[in-house]
Amino acid sequence: MLEDTLYEVKGPKTLFEMSWPEVEEALAKTDVVIVPVGSVEQHGTHLPLGSDTMQATDMAKMVIKQLADEGLTICAAPTIPFGVSHAHLKFPGTITVSSETLMRVITDVCRSLHLHGFRKFMLLLGHGGNLPTLRLVANELALIMKDSKIIVPDWLPVMGAKYPEVLTSSRPRHEHHSGEGETARMVYSTPKLVSKNRGEPFYVPEELDPYAKKPYTGSVTIARSGWGMKEMTAFGVMGDPSIATAETGEKVYKVIIDWLCQVTKAELL
Ligand SMILES: [Zn+2]
Repeated sequence: MLEDTLYEVKGPKTLFEMSWPEVEEALAKTDVVIVPVGSVEQHGTHLPLGSDTMQATDMAKMVIKQLADEGLTICAAPTIPFGVSHAHLKFPGTITVSSETLMRVITDVCRSLHLHGFRKFMLLLGHGGNLPTLRLVANELALIMKDSKIIVPDWLPVMGAKYPEVLTSSRPRHEHHSGEGETARMVYSTPKLVSKNRGEPFYVPEELDPYAKKPYTGSVTIARSGWGMKEMTAFGVMGDPSIATAETGEKVYKVIIDWLCQVTKAELL
């Protein structure tokens, strides 16, 4: 049975929830639009596959609300639910699309929005694995959409830098996928979909940890056949989800949203 809360609108409406006259009215006030991009991928045994897509939607709504409180209007497109999630494919239910497909979808979405008068676009990261693709497509879009500006804010390092202050974990720098921070954000915004049984904390052994210090400086992209999340973490968790609370989730979101609003005002308004 469908729950009667299924179509409840949480926070401000995105274009997905607006009628065309409502969009027309918004376009009279703004040419700024957020295009959130999520994923459908495993998030441990306690979080839904749509966690990144839900968080991307929630972040877009929180940014709209915070700016509206300052008298500023911007819009958000519906969240593109699919992302580049190759690394999670060994877990049931994960859906991945190629970078090329994702770029094409984002391009068509943005071109449609551009046709209606939107000129400034924020491609909102819902899943770290989408970052290279978002950066690439932003450059292509600037070439094909007249008078446009596209930004891709990477809030992950901004949030990570605050983790030692905000999280309760004794290993805040090792809280990653489905760990304390991410679970806390889901407990804050979508508690009904977070399993009561959060499973055991799991920290990836240093020799397998992609975030561990390397014996060299500089950034190296590593793509390895047959190697993904399953090889690093049997249940898909990196960190301790058991200590996550709504209160922590609210604090983490505040760090992200304050920064995204600051970036929006500096770059798009
Ligand atoms: Zn996630």
